Amino acid sequence: MKTDYDVGIVGAGPAGLAAAVYAARGGLSAICFEKEMHGGQIINSPEVENYPALGKISGVEFATALYDQATRFGARIEYEEILSADLKGDPKVLHGAARDYTVRAVILASGVERRKLGCEGEQRLSGRGVSYCATCDGAFFAGKPAAVVGGGNNAVEDALYLAGLCSKVYLIHRRQGFRATEAELAKLRANPKVEFVLDATVGEIRGESKVESILVKSTAGAPDRVLEVAAVFVAVGLLPQNSRFAAELPLTPEGYLTADDNCRTALPRVYAAGDTREKNLRQLITATADGALAATAAVADLAGEARL
Ligand code: NAP
Repeated sequence: MKTDYDVGIVGAGPAGLAAAVYAARGGLSAICFEKEMHGGQIINSPEVENYPALGKISGVEFATALYDQATRFGARIEYEEILSADLKGDPKVLHGAARDYTVRAVILASGVERRKLGCEGEQRLSGRGVSYCATCDGAFFAGKPAAVVGGGNNAVEDALYLAGLCSKVYLIHRRQGFRATEAELAKLRANPKVEFVLDATVGEIRGESKVESILVKSTAGAPDRVLEVAAVFVAVGLLPQNSRFAAELPLTPEGYLTADDNCRTALPRVYAAGDTREKNLRQLITATADGALAATAAVADLAGEARL
């Protein structure tokens, strides 16, 4: 059967780009779709220091090297959003914003987006001091006070990065315990510019045309506080981007795709890779490993070989 490409990869983050490297090196014609900027969530990480053998590298450097590697092996990167897909039939059809693409196999690697806080003022002041990307927007608030909301690795990384730019950084977290790793937390605790505001949530983000202050509400019965900040960086978790595939594939209650150890989903020649699938550890190394597994399974399945 003639198709536009052997494999269509949805998402050009670490999982999708690693899949593109392995698919192209495996002899498949591969196209990788990205609706915004290639690189995925890792481009928000100013410093990655837990990827084996790489020492320290910025997320942007990592994404750029992976993009170069994928294109060098012949994968095509197309900046077009995939709006929906017919995954059950043969060929499989990816419905892009501009046109449809027929492929023999699909690797779903559309990643996650940052969750919103949902408080008053957040939407209205988004882009006017409310941000979801510290490395993208932090420089706009150099020398000014800022707040970061969340208790995971992203919040702690964002706070560390902003402490290098801003006059003061409040880290606001709704309880005492953190999800972030202790090594990163220790760096933050040692930074004199950072004030931890624990057992607290943001009740309202205030300001006329830009962020001027936030109302912080205690979850432990302490009085409310108003903190004067020029920016609020929201890092309260991630949401998978799978609803467009829900008619074709079952999702977990949290919206993640399920796949086996080789990233095969319940549908033949459809694979799920990276943060978008149900897994225990969402990190760079598991995303790239998923991409390699999914593409290797696709190469094997398309060649009619025995399952891995
Ligand atoms: P996360 O680990 O899920 O943490 C989200 C944080 O936001 C939690 O502390 C949570 O509080 C808090 N939260 C959730 N909803 C909230 C709300 N409505 N209001 C206030 N707080 C709220 O998310 P993440 O930091 O974005 O990280 C996502 C994944 O990427 C994690 O698996 C993380 O380890 C990984 N990551 C890895 C690296 C790295 O390896 N270098 C870097 C960044 C991220 P509770 O704790 O109370 O639930």
